[in-house]
Amino acid sequence: MTAPLFPLFADLRGRLVLVVGGGAVARRKVAALLDAGARVRVGAPELDPTLQALHEDGRIEHVAARFEPQWLDAAWLAIAATGDDVVNRAVAAAGEARRVWVNVVDDAQASSFQVPARIERGPLQVAISSGGGAPMLARHLREKLETELDESLGALAGLLSRLRHRIRTRLPHLSARRRFFDQLLAGPVPGLLRRGDHVGAEQELLTALARAAHGTGRGRVALVGAGPGDAGLLTLRGLRLLNEADVILHDRLVSRDVLELARRDAERIEVGKQAGNHHTTQDGIHALMLEHARAGKRVVRLKGGDGFVFGRGGEELEFLHAHGICFEVVPGITAALACGAYAGIPLTHRDHAQSLRLLTAHCKDSADTLDWPALAAERQTLAVYMGVAGLQRLRDNLLAHGKPATTPFALVENGSRPEQRVIVGSLDDLPELARAHAVQSPALLILGEVAALATSLHWFGAAPLGATPSAGAPLARAA
Ligand code: SAH
Repeated sequence: MTAPLFPLFADLRGRLVLVVGGGAVARRKVAALLDAGARVRVGAPELDPTLQALHEDGRIEHVAARFEPQWLDAAWLAIAATGDDVVNRAVAAAGEARRVWVNVVDDAQASSFQVPARIERGPLQVAISSGGGAPMLARHLREKLETELDESLGALAGLLSRLRHRIRTRLPHLSARRRFFDQLLAGPVPGLLRRGDHVGAEQELLTALARAAHGTGRGRVALVGAGPGDAGLLTLRGLRLLNEADVILHDRLVSRDVLELARRDAERIEVGKQAGNHHTTQDGIHALMLEHARAGKRVVRLKGGDGFVFGRGGEELEFLHAHGICFEVVPGITAALACGAYAGIPLTHRDHAQSLRLLTAHCKDSADTLDWPALAAERQTLAVYMGVAGLQRLRDNLLAHGKPATTPFALVENGSRPEQRVIVGSLDDLPELARAHAVQSPALLILGEVAALATSLHWFGAAPLGATPSAGAPLARAA
């Protein structure tokens, strides 16, 4: 195995860099060098029109001749981009003799330095190299990181470098600075910058700095929607917070796959209502959030689907607000959207449904407050959460208010998970079919014309089950 390359970020401002070659490849290199503030001299018998224009504007120098080794005498760096192996190698050899670093484009062997693939966020740069051996792999990684590193990181790097001296003065000890940065990055400052609030971000940073200098770091809570189960449906922002969390308070509905993405040494606490034998009350959840946030921890309150859709997220934030704890909210893919998508049911459709209602009918009280005549109206889709136990009452009420008995439904159990099942039929048969197929929680009911499309548009998991069991489909799992 050969030794790895030594990574280096070079300050080229005002320094002469020689580019040999005057075509398209040279043009790209020249642009990057000019961005870095280099003094660029292009040596080539002829220049392509863009380079010619740069030369006429006085932005680059031009030596209109065939390559000569002495060109390297005055240069700090050189790039050979002629497309002619013999010339390129002559440039490399001339560089070697003069101890000038030379990159031969697309020829790792002949080069003494290489230009990495990079991601730029203002002054922050991430450079990737495969040692010239697998540039496609480096490019692939770069594309991946491009989507993962938020644009606002540039503003953050700029802000931190501007305040660097002040931060060092206020927090002279390295360990205190480290703690401060950890909390700062998990705190509201990155979020403010993402929203473009640079003034607010600076103020928040200075307040946090004053607090840290007085030794009173604060924790915070992120309310994160985990989506319906498939870990691929978690947002990038949610993933980032899970990677930074000290404590994760999660519901029973949150899938194992999502939890596995969280930081290894984060403390995971299940607070689901039916978790094992213990039962954490809402007050208990509030108390846990407060305790950990006050201890300076980064808490993620992780909820199935979206925290603001039948998730009691509102109550939890009101509690945090009342106790002066900072928080942020990351939305998740709610069950209605996920079940629609994974069962092949478009929730709205020009021919069938112009509106969508999200409702819950899990107990007598919630059923009594529903506007039944409105729910019975045509040309809409109903997405009913937590409905398994109340299907009989739901059917009876809808029929009594004039909903046609033939209205199609789809019951989606474990939507987006490998064990997903979809049961389709018409409103009249809803409770009986649910019983016959032993539908279990979590399941979501989609009611309306669009539900019929599951039969033709299903794409994920098993085909929908209906009234007449097809060969091999279990009609009653728990008879
Ligand atoms: N906040 C959640 C909903 C919590 S209420 C969200 O936005 O999705 C719990 C109900 O959501 C369940 O009873 C069920 O009706 C529905 N649900 C959640 N995940 C589901 C899934 N993977 N498949 C089907 N229904 C689901």
